[in-house]
Amino acid sequence: MGGQYRYSKRKGNPSLHARSTKKMRCPIIPYVEITQEVLDALDEHKQLEGPERAGVLVGVVLGNNRYRIKKVSPSITIEGATRTGCERDAQLANNFVQEQYEQSGHTCVYMGEWHTHPEFNPTPSSVDISSVINIYHLPNNNLPFIILCIIGLENIYWGYVINDRLMSLDVTII
Ligand SMILES: [Zn+2]
Repeated sequence: MGGQYRYSKRKGNPSLHARSTKKMRCPIIPYVEITQEVLDALDEHKQLEGPERAGVLVGVVLGNNRYRIKKVSPSITIEGATRTGCERDAQLANNFVQEQYEQSGHTCVYMGEWHTHPEFNPTPSSVDISSVINIYHLPNNNLPFIILCIIGLENIYWGYVINDRLMSLDVTII
């Protein structure tokens, strides 16, 4: 499903394809809702001390380009996390997503990634951007985009990856 939004490398004179390329770069912006429960769960992961934390987000597809994030995984990083870097455990992430999928009667699906930054207003690093784009291309991602959430000490950064680009996202708290 996600494949329809991805770039295909075209040969020949790029100007011949300018119109279609531009069209691909202007997809519909997803409308993403989050519950207060999710906000509270994200808040609990705030990196007031210790190493960076990371996990995944799951939620439901509501239709008409609307999505709702329902659950935040615990921090599931592999050993060796530092204050400014960590890697989340792929196996534990898959287990969490699978568990939520089963428990929700097959409605909750993988929606994206969260991690922490020890800064007040977090912004994605170049490593964050390239790793989330890599995840976007994994075959088990069933959505046309994935969400990136960075929990800062004061604010949360929300973004989404589509067409190999990370864009910022306005989420709606419900
Ligand atoms: Zn980061």
